[in-house]
Amino acid sequence: MTTVLVVEDERRLLRALQLALQSHGYDVVAAPTGTSALASLAERAVDAVVLDLGLPDMDGQVLIRRVRATASIPILVLSARHASAQKVAALDAGADDYVTKPFGLDELLARLRAVLRRGHPTADLDRVDTGSFSLDFPARRAARNGDEVRLTPTEWKILEVLTHTPGRLVPHQEMLERVWGPAYVKETQYLRVYLGQLRRKLEADPSRPRHLITEAGLGYRFDP
Ligand code: CA
Repeated sequence: MTTVLVVEDERRLLRALQLALQSHGYDVVAAPTGTSALASLAERAVDAVVLDLGLPDMDGQVLIRRVRATASIPILVLSARHASAQKVAALDAGADDYVTKPFGLDELLARLRAVLRRGHPTADLDRVDTGSFSLDFPARRAARNGDEVRLTPTEWKILEVLTHTPGRLVPHQEMLERVWGPAYVKETQYLRVYLGQLRRKLEADPSRPRHLITEAGLGYRFDP
């Protein structure tokens, strides 16, 4: 059974999340404060953390760093609307993705499944098929609507990183580091250029991408 630690100081929301996750087959550990969250983590193994950034006793980023220092558990952040600086800081601190309050349960469950896949990539990574395009990684063949498309080695690398964990937000820094290397983590304009190219080559309507999604100021996401 997958165990999720939910950290949220609003008791009613904590209770609602606990019931909802349990009804979807998750084992839930509930923590109303940062301190109790760290105590729970020291006591038992959890597979993922769902974490409200606005806690009374501890800064959300501090808590993310404390979790990160001990384990590579996926962390999904709950954040207030209009708090994009807070989201960036949370992602930089090591969170894997975020959901903006108020959120629907379906969205939360989808994001949670996506961050859980981070540690367990999909079994078949060799092929990707969407409604618009297909990718065959071992053969380095790409096609849009059946017509072959030529991609550069860098474009293949970007697609590998993005499609490896469908639905997961890949932050700018992580993408730059994995594709170009640690010296390039500030070169976000590379990503704009390359993602624009990839959309023109692969998306049915490059101006309204359905698969290679931009999360403004944060990163990119592959929706299969
Ligand atoms: Ca709160």
